[in-house]
Amino acid sequence: LTPHPFNPAADTDYAVVEAREQSQQAFQQVRQLFGKTYLPLVNGEYVSTSEIIDSVNPSNFSEVVGKVGLLSVEQAEQAMQAAKAAFPGWKNTPAKQRASILRKAGDLMELRRAELSAWIVLEVGKPVKEADSEVSEAIDFCRYYAAEMERLDAGYNYDVAGETNRYLYQPRGIAVVISPWNFPLAIATGMTVAALVAGNCTLLKPAETSSVIAAKLTEILVEAGFPKGVYQFVPGKGSKVGAHLVNHPDTHLIAFTGSREVGCRIYAEAAKVQPGQKHLKRVIAEMGGKNGMIVDESADLDQAVVGVVQSAFGYSGQKCSAASRVIVLDSVYDTFIHRLVEATRSLNIGATELPSTQVGPVIDGNAQARIREYIEQGRQEAKVAVEIPASDNGYFVNPTIFTEVPPTATIAQEEIFGPVVAVIRVKDFEEAIAVANGTDYALTGGLYSRTPSHIQMAQEQFEVGNLYINRTITGAIVARQPFGGFKMSGVGSKAGGPDYLLQFLEPRAITENV
Ligand code: NAP
Repeated sequence: LTPHPFNPAADTDYAVVEAREQSQQAFQQVRQLFGKTYLPLVNGEYVSTSEIIDSVNPSNFSEVVGKVGLLSVEQAEQAMQAAKAAFPGWKNTPAKQRASILRKAGDLMELRRAELSAWIVLEVGKPVKEADSEVSEAIDFCRYYAAEMERLDAGYNYDVAGETNRYLYQPRGIAVVISPWNFPLAIATGMTVAALVAGNCTLLKPAETSSVIAAKLTEILVEAGFPKGVYQFVPGKGSKVGAHLVNHPDTHLIAFTGSREVGCRIYAEAAKVQPGQKHLKRVIAEMGGKNGMIVDESADLDQAVVGVVQSAFGYSGQKCSAASRVIVLDSVYDTFIHRLVEATRSLNIGATELPSTQVGPVIDGNAQARIREYIEQGRQEAKVAVEIPASDNGYFVNPTIFTEVPPTATIAQEEIFGPVVAVIRVKDFEEAIAVANGTDYALTGGLYSRTPSHIQMAQEQFEVGNLYINRTITGAIVARQPFGGFKMSGVGSKAGGPDYLLQFLEPRAITENV
């Protein structure tokens, strides 16, 4: 099948002086707005809340990036009622018109690119270039899902003599989107605009630590033209407001991206039919990974070392696609480790606002403590090959590589979500594949090899949603590497791919005897 052509948005070229100047100005402007309060959007109005939290800069937690009003359960209920009231009008809005609002949102993001990147850098501690790529991804989601909805809206025609048979799609109803902090703009945008363009009234509950960026997304979606009640911004505690909306009898669809623990809970809770509920809920749950990269004896080690370092330490290992296990064949193990350690030592660690920074902090104090516990656990289970001291001003964790890690060790099995890598030695390629597949997850995986039979075997047997051969395993691009996993990495079809919107729609077949 040849998909329709799609041109992804281009990232900023920071080699250009004007682009660097624009980025610096954006940081200054964003800093001037530090400490401002952002409120939930319910039925077209920004509503005041009794609870307000601080969202801080992980590179320097004495800086309050913004204050965010958290919705109460009663206010979340008002939002649900507003969504129900807005649904008939939104359902009957032509798909083309819904798609044009998405395109406008994408264009507004392009205009605000430098500013949005700065918010990402400062609220979740992502290095500048990676934040810029995230803005590109958010723009791509808007444009790609707009085009996808127009394609699907045509439906299918299965007419035969004497009978018309039309296959059409309609919206499901009320969608609750629950997003994570690690791609605070792209993932929140992708799930939200997919639900909206399909004709669902949508409530966005962002992760608490990235609520300011979600408030910026809200400004953009409102300006783009989503009517009141159709899109609502419902920041609140996951365990209270999130759980209330998941359990609500009027919720039709939940689009969740986050941890395995919360995803499994939502899947189970959503399966219970509540009093008054007249449908079963659809759950899309994108969860964690324990992604492995195999390096065999024929690998180009120059490429492999760079690819592993980027995949493992990019955004401090806090991407669901990040490499956290490296599976290396015995014959190249010692040479590879030596070079990997040297390359890791040369990483620049620091505040993410500095353009030279390659590894920044982790998201918050809880994550920092949890990752440090895993590092302690690793010391019991394996050898420390390198541990690079990081600053103490923000939520930093020392990038650490463990070697001679048994495949069943805790650090080789559990998602750590930090700058920690477990290197596992294997005797041959069959064992490498078996070890790679030996976790509960199936999200991303990588192979460095120049042996055609190994490449073929990986294509056939490496159980991951996204397999990358001879390149990094992070940085999927919309409509080029549709993204998502299976096993305990989630249920649902790939974001940025041709099946994604189908999950937000209800298909109907209409037959008329003529
Ligand atoms: P998380 O702790 O599971 O939180 C995700 C979202 O769920 C947040 O908005 C959170 O709100 C909310 N939540 C928490 N408890 C809830 C409950 N009982 N009911 C309803 N909602 C609830 O995950 P995270 O730390 O933000 O994100 C990191 C995880 O996401 C990693 O495991 C990573 O692998 C995964 N991830 C997967 C993908 C993918 O595409 N497969 C992409 C990105 C990230 P609060 O913040 O208010 O608690």
